[in-house]
Amino acid sequence: MEKIAQLRCVACATAYPRDTEHLTCPRCGLGGVLDIEYDYEHIRERGFGPEKLKNSPHRSLWRYLDLLPLPDDVALPSLEVGFTPIYPAPRLAERLGVSRLLIKDDTRQPTASFKDRASSVAVLKARSLGVSEIACASTGNAASSLAGWSAHLGLKAYIFVPASAPEAKVVQLRIFQSKVLLVEGSYDEAWDLCQTAAGVFGWYNRNAAVNPAMVEGKKTCGLEIAEQLGEKIPDWVSVSVGDGCTIAGIWKGLCEMKRFGFIPRLPRLLATQAKGANPIERAFLAGKEDIEPQPAQTLADSISVGHPRNSRKALKALRESAGKVVSVSDEEILGAIHELASTTGVFGEPAGVAGIAGIRRAREEGIIKEGESVLHVVTGNGLKDIQSAVRAANVPVHRVKGLSDVEAVVRGS
Ligand SMILES: *Cc1c(COP(=O)(O)O)cnc(C)c1O
Ligand SMILES: [Zn+2]
Repeated sequence: MEKIAQLRCVACATAYPRDTEHLTCPRCGLGGVLDIEYDYEHIRERGFGPEKLKNSPHRSLWRYLDLLPLPDDVALPSLEVGFTPIYPAPRLAERLGVSRLLIKDDTRQPTASFKDRASSVAVLKARSLGVSEIACASTGNAASSLAGWSAHLGLKAYIFVPASAPEAKVVQLRIFQSKVLLVEGSYDEAWDLCQTAAGVFGWYNRNAAVNPAMVEGKKTCGLEIAEQLGEKIPDWVSVSVGDGCTIAGIWKGLCEMKRFGFIPRLPRLLATQAKGANPIERAFLAGKEDIEPQPAQTLADSISVGHPRNSRKALKALRESAGKVVSVSDEEILGAIHELASTTGVFGEPAGVAGIAGIRRAREEGIIKEGESVLHVVTGNGLKDIQSAVRAANVPVHRVKGLSDVEAVVRGS
């Protein structure tokens, strides 16, 4: 794969050849996440650029195959993924006090979360390596996503989730026929167990923080934002943060598209964490490279991460983009579910909307200035966590029997 130059450890900067078998840096262990470095000159010579994309046959993330760690002749899956729409949200913008707000809707991915971007790349990667068994640990969405993509391609998936994962996400795992391992413990414990088991049983490891190909899948969101908006790229891009792979991936995608001339300037990143799970915010504010793990406590299960596995990449992206981190309470997150849904028609899960509460906070704290524009990525579908949505939907329903009851409701409104 000539488009890849080498892989580099984010901790010690050692470079490894493109065909390295290591997933993480052997010197640094799991802290040594590898980053795939491309030969952009080569990719340019192959013709990648605005003109080529305009003529792409794919209305999916496969339009960016030039920038993904997969062979050119890879057999692509037919399940649609990526190239999700971006909507203006003027009524919500007004409520949040920002001049222009855009919503990128990743709730409509095939398994209803952003994670399909990484899983779709993972299963193709596994298949191209001739592997038929794949594993991951997840708070829920990476799991249900990998389960769906494994079902699509006929791979066997071993999935480790905390026993507390929302029911809808566990149902997805079962309906897609994966091997579900419910771990009595936190996501952080599920992650450790999966890591060990993958080593023992020789499964292909989809854990986003240790598998460098995963961030490449996630970066397609940044590639899309740049291609779809071009010169209208907003001042800020907002996303909620757990392990940190999503924000790091989006940043990498945006940087690549700037390099290829799709956007004139780079936006700043706004990261939102839950107050009860904010190790990346703490490290960022303290100016530190390393996070201090903490017990995680938030109803936003997808970002309930006390020991983020990709904090280095996330912190680097935040610093490079002159970004900011804010944290919000569970109450604010519940409010944001309702606020986003009722003003845009997009129904997000708690982690998908935490950044909406984050935008309000950033505006109040003067981080987002008067007149600045923001795009928020809604990373997961609200139907994945009905329990939280029920708590958020504090709107009365009316029990009616006949027309007179209906009339009473109409007059009352
Ligand atoms: C995984 C996830 C995130 C956070 O991504 P990280 O890479 O863990 O930072 C945000 N929202 C949803 C819905 C997710 O599933
Ligand atoms: Zn290293």
